[in-house]
Amino acid sequence: MQTIIKQIISLLQNITPLSPQAMFAERIDRIRKDVKISATSSFRTQKRNAAVGGKINSKHLENLGIDVILDYTADAPRLKFLCEREGLLCLDEKDHFHIQVKKNA
Ligand SMILES: [Zn+2]
Repeated sequence: MQTIIKQIISLLQNITPLSPQAMFAERIDRIRKDVKISATSSFRTQKRNAAVGGKINSKHLENLGIDVILDYTADAPRLKFLCEREGLLCLDEKDHFHIQVKKNA
């Protein structure tokens, strides 16, 4: 019995929590299994972010934001629904959708 408890404790100690970036990537992966999207921008350097007119505190800088385009524009409501279900913010930027973690989430 004690051995089993020790084994369980050992297993629990080996579980490392996922980084916010890994959790974000998993959420995007779940979304893209459901709706046909392609990334047009993901993580950025400060220099690149400034060059494309990104906000100074853009989530692209932290690898917590991604720009995507749809294969089928009719999927827009589905994309928005899936983002909401994953707790992500989805902004329609007209020529792409910007998806990111919600602030303080
Ligand atoms: Zn963006």
